[in-house]
Amino acid sequence: MKILVAVKRVVDYAVKVRVRPDLTGVETANVKMSMNPFCEIAVEEALRLREAGAAAEVVAATIGPAQSADTLRTALAMGADRAVHVLHNPDPARPLLPLAVAKILRAVALRENPGLVILGKQAIDDDCNQTGQMLAGLLNWPQGTFASKVILDKEKAIVEREVDGGIETICLDLPAVITTDLRLNQPRYATLPNIMKAKSKVIKKVTPEDLNVDIRSDMEVVQVTEPPKRKAGVILSSVDDLLDKLKNEAHVL
Ligand code: AMP
Repeated sequence: MKILVAVKRVVDYAVKVRVRPDLTGVETANVKMSMNPFCEIAVEEALRLREAGAAAEVVAATIGPAQSADTLRTALAMGADRAVHVLHNPDPARPLLPLAVAKILRAVALRENPGLVILGKQAIDDDCNQTGQMLAGLLNWPQGTFASKVILDKEKAIVEREVDGGIETICLDLPAVITTDLRLNQPRYATLPNIMKAKSKVIKKVTPEDLNVDIRSDMEVVQVTEPPKRKAGVILSSVDDLLDKLKNEAHVL
């Protein structure tokens, strides 16, 4: 069985994100970019399933500009067998929305015919948490979102998922879509020999047009601004003071 993993290139989680001076978006020039942390977990899970003998091949896919090839190389250095790069040059005013990404991933999945697609539960740049759900809907495949444990058993996947009340266990018929939560695993670091090996692995380049996918969106980003600065707090000396402020200043009592 083949596992398809969707990996996104995002501003590194440790970078403090800044808005561009012209307010067209977030500054990415000279900013460290990395694989989205939830996608690292997705790659790790696919590799563990392959190493356990439950899958034969792991294919990483990304949609993004030429630089996104770095993210695919990271997936290949972690151990993915090959990669698909759907080239798309971002326009800050017309960002690629989860529905467009899901349509592209659907087209890739229909070509690759995987038994399982694993995505991150969310990308830390847009925090949408939508792509996996939309992909499962478009493919009409079952979905296990926010997975904290995955077991493959012949034609089924048993998924433990993190929900508000605790852990829910569901059983999915394959092919299926799974999105990863933080506790699923601890992703491995790529070793130097594997980084070298990854250089000779295949990255197939295609465009949304090659896949016959229309990625136009109705949404236009007009302006991106910093959130308002928070005002300094005050320390009150008594509960009576607090009640007084809630009643007479905040008017919530
Ligand atoms: P989102 O719905 O935007 O929060 O993204 C959820 C997941 O969808 C990510 O963790 C990735 O696995 C996948 N994804 C989103 N955008 C892309 C992209 N441009 N390329 C590849 N995978 C993506």
